Amino acid sequence: MLANYVDKYKDLKTRINDLETLYNREIRLVVVSKTQNSEKIITLNNLGQTDFGENYVDEAHEKINSIRNSNIRWHFIGKIQSNKIKTICNLFDWVHTISSEKHVKKINEISKSINKVMNVCIQINIDNEQTKGGITLEEYDKFSSILYGLQNIKLRGLMTIPRSDIPSEESFARMYDLYKKNDYLDTLSMGMSSDFVTAIENGANMLRIGQEIFGKRI
Ligand SMILES: *Cc1c(COP(=O)(O)O)cnc(C)c1O
Repeated sequence: MLANYVDKYKDLKTRINDLETLYNREIRLVVVSKTQNSEKIITLNNLGQTDFGENYVDEAHEKINSIRNSNIRWHFIGKIQSNKIKTICNLFDWVHTISSEKHVKKINEISKSINKVMNVCIQINIDNEQTKGGITLEEYDKFSSILYGLQNIKLRGLMTIPRSDIPSEESFARMYDLYKKNDYLDTLSMGMSSDFVTAIENGANMLRIGQEIFGKRI
């Protein structure tokens, strides 16, 4: 019989714990709950899971309001649209997909107005793919310097989604180099269902995983 999402979650936690011991590094798991209902989120939260990731603002809005649980940290991992930034600031604790000066300034402004400091990761388009968001490695220094002046933005780290059709080791390794060079960062957000072990082997300390727990998304 197929294991259900609770068993899959427990299984995944055990694997991650073993890798934490092996690499002597704390690894945070963001459970990606897009397309999953609130009940599943509450069930996993009751098992101790505190970090959840969502891609779509409207879907997240509904779920977050219905759950109303202050011990959950919500991570926005979707594409940012200007007209949704206010809602993102109200609902989320982290934004992983920062790559536009205009957007990050707006997030800063709105966060300030609601007395909040937003945790952010800069998204890096590590394999320079047309279809993916993020800045290039070369743009990092200039772009990150824009964030220093923004008092309601806390730059925590880097996020990436590598190319899926080639092995990801090299892409992850380039991310790790950039992460290590900037020692004020504490988060390297990489590793999804298909590649999280490789991501951990290459220095990831925050994973974003959905399908490995909930099964294939339709
Ligand atoms: C959907 C998504 C994930 C999770 O992918 P899975 O294959 O479900 O593990 C992680 N990161 C981002 C940015 C996503 O959009």
